[in-house]
Amino acid sequence: NTILDTDKIRADFPILDIKVGNKPLVYLDNAASSQMPQQVIDRLVRYQTAQHANINRAVHYLSEVATLEYEHARRRVQQFVNAQEDREIIFTSGTTDSINLVMHGYGRKFIEAGDEIILTTLEHHSNIVPWQMLAKEKDAVIRVVPINDAGELDIDAYEKLFNERTKFVSLIHVSNALGTINPVKQMIAYAHQQNVPVLIDGAQATPHMTVDVQDLDCDFYVFSAHKLCGPTGIGMLYGKAALLEAMQPYKGGGDMIASVTFEETTYADIPHKFEAGTPPIAAAIGFGAAIDYLCSVGMDQIAAHELDLLNYATEQINEIKGASIIGTAAHKTAVISFTLDGIHPHDIGTLLNEDGVAIRTGHHCAQPVMQRFNVPATSRASFAFYNNKTEVDALITGIRMVQKVFL
Ligand code: PMP
Repeated sequence: NTILDTDKIRADFPILDIKVGNKPLVYLDNAASSQMPQQVIDRLVRYQTAQHANINRAVHYLSEVATLEYEHARRRVQQFVNAQEDREIIFTSGTTDSINLVMHGYGRKFIEAGDEIILTTLEHHSNIVPWQMLAKEKDAVIRVVPINDAGELDIDAYEKLFNERTKFVSLIHVSNALGTINPVKQMIAYAHQQNVPVLIDGAQATPHMTVDVQDLDCDFYVFSAHKLCGPTGIGMLYGKAALLEAMQPYKGGGDMIASVTFEETTYADIPHKFEAGTPPIAAAIGFGAAIDYLCSVGMDQIAAHELDLLNYATEQINEIKGASIIGTAAHKTAVISFTLDGIHPHDIGTLLNEDGVAIRTGHHCAQPVMQRFNVPATSRASFAFYNNKTEVDALITGIRMVQKVFL
């Protein structure tokens, strides 16, 4: 706990003080959703108590305030990922929605029969299923980059998958199941040499490291606010302006049009073309506040602290007989997927919960990863910057207790 003052940070998170039964909560399910600091809660309360109205439509005071705050949140997201222009940021309901938007808006327009889409074994189901739906509809083909025993992508195999029919690449930046950080910049550069656009699923990268979409040169980048201390129901799609302009809208309705008659509708400019209907205004403003909070802590400090926790936890789990860590990549975020010999992950999660320790068990919406390692499920502890070594110790004590109960 030398890099960040976690005591001070933890004081910002009221939920970390709750008890589970009579045990203090040890929240290690941050890859699923991270917790919200008081600063973001306060921002949501301020919006609801003094700024709420529908946006874009009215000239009255509150509507103008709400519109300004909503667009301010868009600029915060733009700055957070260093996009060139704020119109390249589309608010969506989350990562899943963003990928579906690109599938419908880009895929259905530009992918044809026989075309190939490259994914990887590490993908979350939300970056598999939409492309499979598209492949079925268009008679297109999904090609999959394999991984090695450490859970790292085989980059040679990736490069060999390209041919003249390759039309799209959609890649996970950081694996939610294993924590592997993929060399996406290099992979994007390779795809661009073949004139193939690339979408990066950044759901598990943005909470843990600085992301710069111009430096990566990705064509699309997507993530959700609820994994970075923001509200649920909001996320973003970054797209290069020219691509977004060439795409067809995914949803039709109010606010996304320039003019409507029964014969013909013309669409609004980006980003509004992709934001039909009343958007989640409060959530977008909370998203902006969450970014302010993370930036005040510092993304580099967050990354350094979490690496420290990862190393500390990894060392200790490696000392437990019968415990195996799945996913031992050289570059990882603070995610530890593990199995215990002879004990089902569901039982591990249930018993740890009795000690107040919250972890995830199951396939983590990444069944191909489970199949690759020949396990039905894993237990996953995933850390955030507000976690500390005392909590790692609680996890380790809990795991040893579980083994005592079962063996
Ligand atoms: N991709 C990855 C890598 C994820 O970890 C998640 C959430 N577990 C998603 C996509 C889907 O995000 P959401 O449920 O917020 O749409």
